Amino acid sequence: MTPDEKAILKSVDSYADDILSFTCKLVREESTLGNEASVVRVMEDELKSLGYCPMRIPIDPGKLETHPGFAPVDWEYRKNDGRDNIVAKIRAAGSGGKSALFNGHLDVVSPEPLSYWKYDPFKPSSRNGWLYGRGAGDMKSGIAAMVFAAKAVQQAGFGLGADLTLEGVIEEECSGNGALACLDAGYDAEAVLIPEPFGPKILTSQVGVLWFRVEVFGKPCHVLEAGTGANAIEKSFHIIRALREMEKQLNNQNKPAEYGGFDHPLNLNIGVINGGDWPSTVAAFARFDCRMSYYPGMSYNEIKKIIVTTVEKSATKDPWLKDNPPRIIFYGFRSEGHTISTDMPALSLLSACHMDISGKSADKYISTCTTDLRAFISFGKGQATCFGPVAENIHAENERVLIESVIHTARVYALFLARWCGLCE
Ligand SMILES: [Zn+2]
Repeated sequence: MTPDEKAILKSVDSYADDILSFTCKLVREESTLGNEASVVRVMEDELKSLGYCPMRIPIDPGKLETHPGFAPVDWEYRKNDGRDNIVAKIRAAGSGGKSALFNGHLDVVSPEPLSYWKYDPFKPSSRNGWLYGRGAGDMKSGIAAMVFAAKAVQQAGFGLGADLTLEGVIEEECSGNGALACLDAGYDAEAVLIPEPFGPKILTSQVGVLWFRVEVFGKPCHVLEAGTGANAIEKSFHIIRALREMEKQLNNQNKPAEYGGFDHPLNLNIGVINGGDWPSTVAAFARFDCRMSYYPGMSYNEIKKIIVTTVEKSATKDPWLKDNPPRIIFYGFRSEGHTISTDMPALSLLSACHMDISGKSADKYISTCTTDLRAFISFGKGQATCFGPVAENIHAENERVLIESVIHTARVYALFLARWCGLCE
C-alpha cells in the first residue's frame, strides 16, 4: 500500500462516527414504498453539507415506459411528490483514470409485525458492535459507507482522475425503476459498486425475479348452503399448490453450474393474501401476490409464460375454476438474472483492495435474490457488482448490521477509488 493510500484509509477512519450518524439519520426515516420523500431529503441535505451538488432524478413513466427494463407498477408516479432519486456527480480533478459509480437504495421493506422487534425499528440503537434498525443493513449503512469513502479521499487532499457518481435510489425493493431512471438520465460509469449487505464478497451471479398477482373469483352464499357456493380462498390453495409444483420443477431444470451448491436456489414466495369479508359468507374473492425467481439465462417472457400456463392448467382441473378462470397480473419486478466473471478488472481490483486491507481474499457471492445490479448489467456500460457490510435479519425483525463491517466497506471503497479512478493532488 502506498503512503497516499494509507493516508486515505486514515481519513476514512476519522469519519467512522460520521458514517454511523449518517446511517442513523437515514434509518430514522420510515422509507417504505410511497414514503421515501423524507429519506431522499436527508440524503440530499447530507450530500449538500459535504459540499456536493445533488440532483433529483424522478421516475418519469412517460419517459421510461418504452425502456425494456421498465417495470409497470400498480401505484402512481406523481410529479413533485418528493419520491426522487438523488445523484451527485463529482467531476474528475485530473485525467487518466476510469469512472466509478456507487449506488445504494434508500427504500426499505415494512418492519411488520412490530411486536416481533426487541427495539423500535426506526430508532436505531447500537449494542455490542451491532446497529439495529430497519434498513440498518439493507442498505442505509452501505450508503453512508460509500458517501464517506468519497469524502475521505477528498479530505485526505486528493482529487480523482475520473468522474465519480454517488447515487441513492428508491424502489429497489419492488421495481428497480429508481436505478433505471438514473441510468436513463445518463448516470453510468465504467465500474459500478453497490454496498448491499451481503458481506465482503464479490457478487458474480444473481437470479431473475418477477412479481405477479393472482385474482380468484368465487361464488358467495350463506355458509348454511356452502355446497352451492365456491370459496375463492380455498380455490386459491389449489392454484398455490400448482405453483409450488412449478417451483420444484424450475429448481431442477437447467440449473446453472454456479448454483450447484444450493439445494433450492429458486424460491416462490406467497407474500400477500387477501380474500373474503365475512366469517359466515363463502368468500367470493381472493387475491394473492407472489415473488418468483428464475435462473440466469431464462428470459422474463419465458418465465412469465410458464407461470401463466401453470395457473391456467391448474384451473382446468377444478370444475369451478375451469368456468371461472383466475386472472394473473404482472407488476413490479421483471428483472432477469445474470452471471459475470470475477476476472473483470473492476472485480479483481475490488478483491485486491479487500485483500490489502483485511489480509483475506474475498469470497464469491452467488445471490438467490435480485438487486439494482440488474439495471447496470443489462443496460449499463460498465462492470458492476455488490460488496458491502455484514448484516443479519434483513427483511425480518431485529435487522442489524455489524458496525466494523460498515467501516471496512468504506475503507475498501475509498481504496478502490484511489486505484480505479486514480488520484491527483
Ligand atoms: Zn437491499
